[in-house]
Amino acid sequence: MTDLTLFNTLGRKLEPFQPTTPGEARVYICGPTVYNEVHIGNLRTFLFGDLLRRSLRYLGFKVTQVMNLTDVDDKTIQGAHKAGVSLPEYTEPFVTTFLRDLDALHMERVEQFPKATEHIPEMIAIIEKLIEKGHAYVTDGSVFFKIASDPRYGALSGFDLDQARQGERVASDEYGKEDVRDFGLWKAVKPGEPSWESPWGPGRPGWHIECSAMSMKYLGETFDIHCGGVDLIFPHHENEIAQSESATDKPFVRNWLHAEHLIVDGQKMSKSLGNQYTLPDLLARGCSPRALRYLFLSVHYRQKLNFTFESLDGALGALRRVDEMRFRLQHAAEKGEPDARLAEAGEKLRQDFAAGLADDLNFAVALAALFAYVKEVNVAIEEGRIGGGDRQRVLDALKDVDQVLGVLDPAEWPTGQTDDDAAEIEQLIADRNAARKNRDFATSDRIRDELTARGIVLEDTPQGTRWKRK
Ligand code: AMP
Ligand code: ZN
Repeated sequence: MTDLTLFNTLGRKLEPFQPTTPGEARVYICGPTVYNEVHIGNLRTFLFGDLLRRSLRYLGFKVTQVMNLTDVDDKTIQGAHKAGVSLPEYTEPFVTTFLRDLDALHMERVEQFPKATEHIPEMIAIIEKLIEKGHAYVTDGSVFFKIASDPRYGALSGFDLDQARQGERVASDEYGKEDVRDFGLWKAVKPGEPSWESPWGPGRPGWHIECSAMSMKYLGETFDIHCGGVDLIFPHHENEIAQSESATDKPFVRNWLHAEHLIVDGQKMSKSLGNQYTLPDLLARGCSPRALRYLFLSVHYRQKLNFTFESLDGALGALRRVDEMRFRLQHAAEKGEPDARLAEAGEKLRQDFAAGLADDLNFAVALAALFAYVKEVNVAIEEGRIGGGDRQRVLDALKDVDQVLGVLDPAEWPTGQTDDDAAEIEQLIADRNAARKNRDFATSDRIRDELTARGIVLEDTPQGTRWKRK
């Protein structure tokens, strides 16, 4: 197992990752609020969760990951009300589109996707404990967490309680709070809203308690990693810590990881700018989901990701370098002993790739290792150094790092005109070669013309046909 260093938002420094149970990583990531289709910003954060999961596994940890689905909160209730349907009728289609987007970007399904509405009793149990211990109070059927009862409040975000006290004019629509800074754990039912029975009367949970209840249920009262986007540091995660630790008297989470936001053309995404893209928006424009995954993984999670259509082209270009090497390799003749220099390059790839991941998920280093390897393989092909079994060894090396990257095999992705079409081109070339073998020159010429029209240049060599884009 490689030593892993991660940046902990709690304390704001790089730290060695030391899970509660050696060799196991228990990870919670805040999932989507299922009130609309997720946008590519949300997807950046979720993809970060996928890369974290795959990296942990690559580095030798057994991973248990939980991602909640927030299917009751102000936004879902408002949406259902406007649409004139029940809450589950309103949220269910967005769960479906969310999972569809995960699949489209080859994100693995995590071990559990708990829904808030299915964990109300667990939330009530924590709230009862908090009241019992003097950390929460009931007013008119609602329950609030008493921030003043938690001396550690603010440790994650640097939120200063005393300063907040001075700015006490903060607007609050929640009457009955003893202190404006207190936050709702349980909200008494309002007319027309969905509600659940509780010891304080009918109502619904606050958003923050949802995540405390679901994370602790599946991962234990103390678990290893909690992550989400940077906007969740305050108040969501700060409040999760306050509730959970006040209820259990145990540390809630050892390591907090936060992904920076995605912006579009240098600007914050917003409805008014029309740049709040969903994945289907991009697919409709002919963008490649494979390129999007590559683009996302190529920017460090603690850096803002500036999405532009050009950057997507750049991602496609990088992938083509790997695809073209793979294609040349397939047509390279194997001869003699396995090549020693190639074996060494394979070993170096594995080492450098793992070292990159272990350094706070430094994918720039991991990808540099990949492209150094691609270059070595290309040189070996040029120099006719592909020995017995080398082809498979190279494919295995790509497969090995692709356990984390999840983008390298073009056959696993859809093909299309503006998309990554390498597999299709390879098929056309194979058809052309078959036609030539059968002396069907009309067909072989027609295929060649079609490829030329698509900007593909062919070169017939003793090792087979090579191709590149004009
Ligand atoms: P929400 O459904 O609003 O709770 O957001 C789901 C996840 O997406 C959270 O982890 C947010 O922090 C994250 N998120 C929201 N906006 C962006 C953005 N522009 N870029 C990256 N992540 C985001
Ligand atoms: Zn959450």
